[in-house]
Formats: sequence, C-alpha cells, structure tokens
Amino acid sequence: MTTPNTALVTGASRGIGRAIAQRLAADGFTLIVNYARDAAAAADTVTEITAAGGKAVALQADVSDPQQLQQLFSDAVQAAGPIAAIVHNAGILPMANIALEHLESFDQCVAVNLRSTFLLMGHAREQLSEGGRFVALSSSVLARNFPGYGPYIAAKAGVEGLIRVFANELRGRQITANAVAPGPVATELFFKGKTPEQIAQLAAMNPLERLGEPEDIANTVAFLCSQDGGWVNGQVLRANGGFA
Ligand code: NAP
Repeated sequence: MTTPNTALVTGASRGIGRAIAQRLAADGFTLIVNYARDAAAAADTVTEITAAGGKAVALQADVSDPQQLQQLFSDAVQAAGPIAAIVHNAGILPMANIALEHLESFDQCVAVNLRSTFLLMGHAREQLSEGGRFVALSSSVLARNFPGYGPYIAAKAGVEGLIRVFANELRGRQITANAVAPGPVATELFFKGKTPEQIAQLAAMNPLERLGEPEDIANTVAFLCSQDGGWVNGQVLRANGGFA
C-alpha cells in the first residue's frame, strides 16, 4: 500500500492559500485546490503547480456550507484518494464595530471563519489517514484588539479554542492539529480598505519592519505538514516577524 500524500487547502485560489498549495505541491503532495467564487484564479493555481511538475485539481465549495463541503470531500477522495493533510486557510475579514447594525457581518464572519473550522474538523476526523496533519489559520491580530476587528477576532479566537480540543480528541491516531496565526501579510484581504499610511504603520510594527509574504506563512504550514513538524501538536504558531 502506498502512503497517502494528498493535501486539501481551502481558499487556495489566491493569497496565502495559493502559496501554501504551491509549497505543499513542491514538497510532494497532490493538491486539492479549494475556492469559493474565483474559478479562473483557482485554475491559475493549478496551472502554476502543474507547470512546476506538481499535481493539483481545483474544486469549488463554500466552506461555510455543510452540503458543499460534503461534496468537496467526496470529490476530493474520488480525484486523489485518501487525504493526508488538510489546511483550512479560507477566511474573510469584514471590518465592523461591535454595534447592533453589524450583526449580519458578525454572522457572516463567524460562518466563514469559525463554523467552517468546526465542519472541516468534522470531515478531517473522518477522512484523515493515520499520521495525518490538520492546520487551521488564525491571526496574530488577536493580541491587538484593534477597533473594527471584533467579529474577526471573535471567530479566530474560536478557531484557536477548537484546535486544542481537536488535537486531544484525535488521541491515538498519530494525527497532529495546529493553528498558524500570521501577522499582517501582503494579500488582498490585508490591503482592502487600508490607506498607504495604515499599511506602512502595520508593516513597521514587527521588529523585522516589513509585511509578511504569503510564502512566509506557507513555509510555516509546510513545516507543520512535514515529518519534521510531527512533534508539534495542539499549538498556535504565531508566524508574524515578532508582531505582538
Ligand atoms: P485572501 O487573499 O482574501 O484569500 C482568501 C481565500 O479564501 C480566497 O482563495 C477565497 O476564494 C477563499 N474564500 C473566501 N471565502 C470562502 C468561502 N466561503 N469558501 C471557500 N473559500 C473562500 O486572504 P488571505 O490574506 O490569503 O488569508 C488567508 C487566511 O489567512 C485567512 O484565514 C485569513 O484570516 C488569514 N490571515 C491573513 C492575514 C493577512 O494579513 N493577510 C493575517 C492573519 C491571518 P475565492 O476568491 O474563490 O472566493
């Protein structure tokens, strides 16, 4: 029997997810490239992976929708066999103060960032092979309590809570479950709605004095998915250049 080497990355059509998918493909995984809306961008991720000699297939699913996720896993297993690593990267950052008129933003943020994590873990529990890896994306902004980040911070704090329990619940299966919490990273999600001054200020907050690049986060996730990362379990790794 061959060792399963398929990895599923949610939200891999661009940004951090695309960089994670490319890196895991370079490390020898066959990639399931999930996306929600942008089929062309997901196809570009697949093209870049295959052009570099890797294997990948794009599959659409909104991660907050249980039926679409069910279909995603069934299509993924059919396309690429048993799954060895799941990276739940898809996420949104709707800026909203904690005010009654923003309940809809809160619900949407929790659905895409947190409810999805519970659902992905449910599938991971059923699908991950012995020795598998589960990684979810949190955020280092948890430590900063910036105004307007309430729904996002609430959802990502929930992700960090789930990851520790999930690692314990997987006892005996040699599967690790961890979160990676980036600081500011140069992607659409980060740049949207920010002035050049705000971007410069956030970039200067860590002692390395630059924004993170998607590849910085992909390197961290790849470590956790590798043999070398096998003793890290139930942790939140803050990959942020020292942003605190
Ligand atoms: P991004 O550039 O906006 O990309 C988001 C990705 O998620 C896209 O591929 C998008 O696919 C997908 N997505 C969005 N909603 C989805 C849904 N409902 N179902 C499935 N896929 C969905 O974001 P990013 O900056 O790379 O962020 C990736 C992760 O890192 C997120 O969890 C984010 O919270 C976290 N993070 C980012 C930063 C940062 O500064 N960038 C910092 C800390 C944490 P479509 O385009 O096809 O919809």
